[in-house]
Amino acid sequence: MHQVGLFWFHADLRVVDNAALVQASQEVDRLICVYCLPPVPRGKKSPNSLSGHRLQFLQESLTALDSSLSRLGQQLDVIYAPALETIAQLITRHDIGAIYGTSTADYYVNKVWKLLKKRYSMISFNQVGTSSLIGPAQLPFPLDELPDSFSKFRRKVEPIDISSPLVEPESLPRPPANTAASQWQQLFPAFKQNPSPLFSGGESNGIEHLQGYFARELASSYKTTRNGLDGMDYSTKFSPWLANGNLSARTVMKALKDYEHTVGRNDSTYWIYFELLWRDYFHYYALKYGSRLFSFSGIRQCKPSTSFYAERFQKWCQGNTPYPIVNACMNQLNSTGYLSNRGRQMAASCFVHELNLDWRYGAAYLEQQLIDYDVASNWGNWQYLAGVGSDPRGHRQFDLAKQTQLYDPDNIFIHKWAGDDCSAVLDSVDAADWPIVDSLTVDRL
Ligand SMILES: Cc1cc2nc3c(=O)[nH]c(=O)nc-3n(C[C@H](O)[C@H](O)[C@H](O)COP(=O)(O)OP(=O)(O)OC[C@H]3O[C@@H](n4cnc5c(N)ncnc54)[C@H](O)[C@@H]3O)c2cc1C
Repeated sequence: MHQVGLFWFHADLRVVDNAALVQASQEVDRLICVYCLPPVPRGKKSPNSLSGHRLQFLQESLTALDSSLSRLGQQLDVIYAPALETIAQLITRHDIGAIYGTSTADYYVNKVWKLLKKRYSMISFNQVGTSSLIGPAQLPFPLDELPDSFSKFRRKVEPIDISSPLVEPESLPRPPANTAASQWQQLFPAFKQNPSPLFSGGESNGIEHLQGYFARELASSYKTTRNGLDGMDYSTKFSPWLANGNLSARTVMKALKDYEHTVGRNDSTYWIYFELLWRDYFHYYALKYGSRLFSFSGIRQCKPSTSFYAERFQKWCQGNTPYPIVNACMNQLNSTGYLSNRGRQMAASCFVHELNLDWRYGAAYLEQQLIDYDVASNWGNWQYLAGVGSDPRGHRQFDLAKQTQLYDPDNIFIHKWAGDDCSAVLDSVDAADWPIVDSLTVDRL
């Protein structure tokens, strides 16, 4: 009797450094590889509907994964339905004995794992941790004692050795007999194709980008350039491949260590590692706090004095606020699916402090747009900036005029991304819903 296994891909769209895939290759005789992409109801824009940029990167990542899997004797099936019901049906249809996947900080994905475990106690469930630099078993404290600030976390984990990435499995068990290759490509959600995207998804594109970044020796000046706003070279741009799991953090770390060995170590190379630790910190933060990652009062349990103003929210999304630097950031995000770290900080600070908006709507908008969307990094950073997260200062408002002076003194970024082509007023009605007439209009009356 053959044991049939199921591999549930999520944000680990790769075959290299995929410990769960290696384990599956050793334990089962037949394997089914699935990725679930629930459809958004027709005509609806739900908060989790994905932008064209995100869909394009995802499609490229899935296509690349499918061809890597077929090289190893497997095939990918992308199923356009929610994961819980999809996996439940597959369990029954194929008499699945073991389920595999990469551990994740995604609350909803973990909820599905929990429900499946509860429902199918006879199945072996294997979630293996290769999504962070420091694996769950390496943490020097229990998860519920995760330090409440990044600095404390960093000091505790820095002495830990980062394991080397695993090589891909030599081959994979075949799919069960009579499983036809899926035609998932034809049913992939329609989106407007971007003919010259900044990033192309897929494991080999990620590796190529990683090698190119280090070959050009950009890592040696990263710390001085990392706050840039525009271009490919001021920061690593590893995030889209990391977020979709085309690259593992350990693969990035291995390339960084090799670089330090051959070219040299300095503050900048250390700082790339430092930033990757931020990613790990938010990963464990999301795991520790569960659904509180999405709650208005955050982990601090203090309600910000913000609200929801539809007009302000729409203007922020469309890059039409009275703040040119923020508009330029939003236009860049909407056109490319990517925004610099400094741009994200300024846009989020403006959202919370100048526009007085409920931070969760801003986080949800970035979730739709960012090709490097990562649940823990996005919602964790938003909490931090909204003053309800792990920031020991608790209030972090960016002075937008000063930021413009520092990072775009000649308004080059603002002009390029049409940030000054905007509305001078924030609201068209006052608190009692009366139209606000500006002085220019009055002069013309
Ligand atoms: C409001 C807001 C939302 C964000 N949303 C996301 C998100 O959805 N996905 C995401 O990957 N990052 C997010 N970040 C973090 C950061 O902005 C991006 O990781 C970074 O801009 C990606 O570009 P890069 O790869 O060139 O980064 P680099 O500066 O080159 O950093 C190297 C890597 O370190 C990690 N990293 C860097 N800064 C952070 C940080 N502050 N938090 C967590 N990890 C970090 C990323 O994996 C990044 O690829 C967000 C930050 C803010 C302020």
